[in-house]
Amino acid sequence: MNLNTIENKAQNTSPFEAQAAIFKAFTHPVRLSILELLREGEQCVCHLSACLGQRQAYISQQLIVLRESGLVHDRRDGWNVYYSVVDPLLFEILDDVKVLSGAEPSALPSSPAECTCPRCSTKAGLTNRLSNYRFQEKRNDNY
Ligand SMILES: [Zn+2]
Repeated sequence: MNLNTIENKAQNTSPFEAQAAIFKAFTHPVRLSILELLREGEQCVCHLSACLGQRQAYISQQLIVLRESGLVHDRRDGWNVYYSVVDPLLFEILDDVKVLSGAEPSALPSSPAECTCPRCSTKAGLTNRLSNYRFQEKRNDNY
């Protein structure tokens, strides 16, 4: 591709194409669920996958569409890729659409029972340690 082609492409891109890309990103229930989970902040692919009960490969495909539309960006940290929204303004759009659709507020599991992501395993580790501690405390009371 030469420079002329790139320049022509940029000139031919109407603002509507960028807007259409955003609307395209919205046209899938799983992508909307992902955005809903990103309301709570940055999430890794494995966490989104565990919350939505879908394979990571499938979630990654949906995240690519969201990223290409410019709605989310990713950050790599070791083995994990974290996603977050570029502009929280999109949640206002989603809220308006929710009102328009008349749908009940969705209850997504923000802490799935089984998730191996660094944050959940740290939390689970802490919970286990706490319950072990409580268990010991109880036992000590009995003796
Ligand atoms: Zn998790």
